[in-house]
Formats: sequence, C-alpha cells, structure tokens
Amino acid sequence: MTTDPTTVADNVVVEIEYTLIVDSEVLDSSNDEGPLEYLHGHDNIVPGLEKALAGKKVGDSLQVTVSPEEGYGEYDEEATAHVPREEIPAEVPLEEGVEIIMEDDDGEELSAVIVWVGADEVKLDFNHPLAGRELEFEVKVVGLREATEEELEHGHAHMEGHAH
Ligand code: ZN
Repeated sequence: MTTDPTTVADNVVVEIEYTLIVDSEVLDSSNDEGPLEYLHGHDNIVPGLEKALAGKKVGDSLQVTVSPEEGYGEYDEEATAHVPREEIPAEVPLEEGVEIIMEDDDGEELSAVIVWVGADEVKLDFNHPLAGRELEFEVKVVGLREATEEELEHGHAHMEGHAH
C-alpha cells in the first residue's frame, strides 16, 4: 500500500490545468481537453515549465514565463531544407503554411511546414512552430500520483483510455 506523493518530483505523475499564452494570445488550454497528466522528470513538457513545477503541491497555482531556450528552442535558420517537389507526397497540397510529416534517413518522423513553393522545389522549415517564442503558462496542480512501472519504462504518463 503506497500513499500518493505530496509534492511534484521526479517519477511522479502530475495532473495540471494549464493555459498557454504567446503574444497575448491563448494558444492552448486544458479548458478544451481537460487536465493534462505528465510524468515529471522525463522531458514530457518544456524544461522551463517542468523546472517551475518541481516541489509544488496540489492546489498550487503559478504563472511561468518560459524563455525560448527553456521552451521550444531558439529559431534555427539551419533547420530548413529545399526539397524537390516530387519528394513531397502527392496528397499534400503544395501551399505555404501546410504542415507535413517527413522521414529522415533513419526513418524518424519529422514534422515540417512548407514555407515557400518554387517551380521545382519547396522549402521546408523543421523548427517547432513555437521555436524562438517566449511562452506564458498559467498552471494549477490538480493531482499527483505515483507512476506505474509501465509508465516509468515508457517514460511518459498513460492518461486514462490512452495507454500505449
Ligand atoms: Zn506508453
């Protein structure tokens, strides 16, 4: 018989309500999809937010400003590529702003955005859409529980009905 953890610490599953604001615009909120569960200490959320939550208790609310370095990274000019049009899957519309999933040489999936369409080539941007942006989080800790062995093995929380 174990008791639930009382503070946010490594290997604890933390349930949070959150709102993400970038440039005064709400980009994401648990009001839409319900609270989020994540496994603390496993890079499941951006480093700046994870750091700020360490040691917090259920009921604690906080506002956190996260710099790009501790968020989705600085914008990397090098993380773009020109790709022949024929390498883009036929079902993808060749338009600026369209998100696409590409595979690298190791078969890893990378998401990219088409940022330019030329006669023979398109330019893809592999930066995270929030790279280089400062993130404002309003967060409330609403639950803490011990992680299961399976969650620790996988390195992430299994939300109800979303086990994998
Ligand atoms: Zn899993």
